[in-house]
Amino acid sequence: TFELLDSDFYGYQSLLTDQEKAALAALRDYLETEVRPIVNGYWDRAEFPFEIVKPLAELGAYSFAWEETKPFANSAVFRGFVALEMARVDASVATFQGVQNGLAMGSIAATGSPEQREEWLPRMSRGEIIGAFGLTEPLSGSDSARGLRTTATRDGDDWVLNGSKRWIGNATFSDVTIIWAKDVSDGQVKGFIVPTDTPGYTATKIDGKISLRSVQNADITLENVVVSERNRLQNANSFKDTARVLRLTRAEVSWSAVGNSIGAYEAAVAYAKTRIQFGKEIGGHQLIQDLLVKSLGNITASLGMVVRVSQMLDEGTQRDEHSALAKTYTTSRMRETVAWCRELFGGNGIALEYDVARFFADAEALYSYEGTQEMNTLIVGRTITGQAAFV
Ligand code: FAD
Repeated sequence: TFELLDSDFYGYQSLLTDQEKAALAALRDYLETEVRPIVNGYWDRAEFPFEIVKPLAELGAYSFAWEETKPFANSAVFRGFVALEMARVDASVATFQGVQNGLAMGSIAATGSPEQREEWLPRMSRGEIIGAFGLTEPLSGSDSARGLRTTATRDGDDWVLNGSKRWIGNATFSDVTIIWAKDVSDGQVKGFIVPTDTPGYTATKIDGKISLRSVQNADITLENVVVSERNRLQNANSFKDTARVLRLTRAEVSWSAVGNSIGAYEAAVAYAKTRIQFGKEIGGHQLIQDLLVKSLGNITASLGMVVRVSQMLDEGTQRDEHSALAKTYTTSRMRETVAWCRELFGGNGIALEYDVARFFADAEALYSYEGTQEMNTLIVGRTITGQAAFV
């Protein structure tokens, strides 16, 4: 059975259909029983919990969004709650799913031909093929639209890719990576589905992260990597098409930000009810209540925002600036919230075993990936003023 979260203070989950609630209940049950107990250990060891890949597939986590694979008709709000429920337990798990389902499958769904969708999406939805998304480079992050240095050169029925990528999530173990590269003939950004066993492709794990430690990020080098025209995303003709993918995934990251905030908040509420100082539960002290109320206010405002931005997707009215505002706003509120929740734990707030430290640290990566706070602000600023401050 499905119960509203106490942290969903205005009851947004009551917008869901019975079928959506049942799917979410099954997901939550799996996350609570199988995933929550293991995530701190994986985070500490900076390892990825491969045992979650297939169960998440069976629960629909890579299927719900696509015509070819969805088990039942569902809303963008529901799929947002899927991201939220995962991030509420662990943002690395949500990020793994966001890369597989949003960035990799989303690229194929949004910019692939019907044949490419049919070839890749069903197998990826079953978790048989794991995807990654390679846009960022060592020398180009925020300015990916114009600054990409990876090149694609047409050679008969093939393309030859050369260059390097940085920070690519899931890429130490992905079976295919979507590589975005500039076509040397017309200067436009194109997308390629690159099997990772192609000669000339190498991925090296980035070590020493202090955020999303379970997510496996890689540096990728591409040396004369040959990809057939058949594996070029047929409807990715310029960076505008890449941006269509990012619009969708930014909305999903906003949901994850709310989930990560809720994870920290729920831990804080539980701690406030058990930790005794000055002869009473710390939750009985006024200043502790203030931390909790400010956190719940951030969560509730952010939740209203992401619900609406997802409804706009279903209505066909969502634009880049809408998801950019959600991303910049919710991740900023998350950063405040996780700091307040961590503060409430005193010294224990920096010990991994109390969970809140992980939500606190993971907030930093969510804040900076999929477009930094500054870049998403500038996308909205361009809409408000009509002036692009970043070109
Ligand atoms: P830079 O672009 O170098 O920015 C540095 C700073 O300058 C930032 O504060 C930025 O906001 C600011 N800045 C830049 N330009 C301007 C401007 N015009 N005005 C004001 N401020 C500006 N990428 C992928 O392609 N695939 C992935 O799967 C992926 N996963 C990631 C996972 C993690 C954990 C992380 C940390 C990153 C991931 N990224 C991925 C990369 C991520 O999208 C980039 O880190 C991000 O876009 C920022 O780029 P950058 O790191 O190069 O920073």
